[in-house]
Amino acid sequence: MLTSIKGRSVIVTGGSKGIGKGIARVFAAQGAKVMIVARHIDGAEATAAEFNAAGATACAFAADVAKASDVEAMAQAVVERHGGLDILCANAGIFPAAKIEDMTEAQWDEVVDTNLKGTFLSIKACVPLLKKSDQGRIVITSSITGPITGFPGWTHYAASKSGQLGFMRTAAIELAKYAITVNAVMPGNIKTEGLDGLGADYLATMAASIPLKKLGAVEDIGNAALFFASREAAYITGQSIVVDGGQTLPESLEALEEA
Ligand code: NAP
Repeated sequence: MLTSIKGRSVIVTGGSKGIGKGIARVFAAQGAKVMIVARHIDGAEATAAEFNAAGATACAFAADVAKASDVEAMAQAVVERHGGLDILCANAGIFPAAKIEDMTEAQWDEVVDTNLKGTFLSIKACVPLLKKSDQGRIVITSSITGPITGFPGWTHYAASKSGQLGFMRTAAIELAKYAITVNAVMPGNIKTEGLDGLGADYLATMAASIPLKKLGAVEDIGNAALFFASREAAYITGQSIVVDGGQTLPESLEALEEA
C-alpha cells in the first residue's frame, strides 16, 4: 500500500477529458488537491465540479501549454489556490493526423509546440514550486507511438512523444539535486471519449490486436502516474513505464493468434 497522497497539490495539464481526466480522478479520489488545466475553461470547470460533487478538492484553470505566459500564470494560480505544488502531470497533448507529403509546417509546429514544447514550458514554470516540496514529482504522458511503434499520419506526433522521453532523461539529471523525480507513462490504446464515435466494430478490432483483449481505461494510466508520484517511488527517476495491455509484445500476427 502506498503512503497517502492526501492533501498533496497536483496539476494535471489536459485534465478536462480523456487520459488527463482519468489521472486527475485517481489523484482526487486519493484526497489530493487537483488543479485541472485545459485551454477551454468550460471543460476544465465541468470536470472540477464533477470531482467536487464527489467530495474531492479540485479547481480549474485555463492555459495553453504551448504559451510560456499561460503556464507561468498556471503556476501562480496553484500557489494562490492550493498553497504550492507537489506533483505536475504534464499530460496535455494533441494528435491530428497528416502524412508527410501533405503535412504543412504549421501542422508540424502545432503538434510539436503542444506536446513537446508544452512539456518543457509546463515543467520550467513549475520547477520553482516543486523545489519547495518534500515530494516534488513530474509525470509526463508520452505514448508507445514514437518511442516503440509507428503509425502512418503521425510522424509529428511520434517525434514529439519520443522527444518527451529524451527531454525527460536529461531533466531527471538536472532536477535530481532538488530531489524532484521525472518519469513518464507510455499509454497504448486507451478508451477515451474521443473514441466513442468510432463504433463498436472498430473498437473490437483494436481490442483484438491487444493480448489482454481490451483497450485500457484512463484510470490505468492514472494508477501508473500515482505510483510515480508516490513517496515509495522517490528513488525512481528518468524512467518510463508502458501501460498497453501487452500491445507492443507480439512480434507478429502469428504470435498473437498462436496464444
Ligand atoms: P484528449 O481526450 O483529446 O484530451 C486532451 C486534453 O488536453 C484535453 O483536456 C484538452 O483540453 C487538453 N489540451 C489540448 N491541447 C492543449 C493545450 N495546448 N494546452 C492545454 N491543454 C490542452 O486526449 P487524450 O487521448 O486523453 O490524450 C492525452 C495525452 O495522452 C496526450 O499527451 C496523448 O499524446 C497521450 N496518449 C493518448 C493515448 C490514447 O489512447 N488516448 C495513447 C497514448 C498517449 P482543451 O481542448 O480544452 O485544451
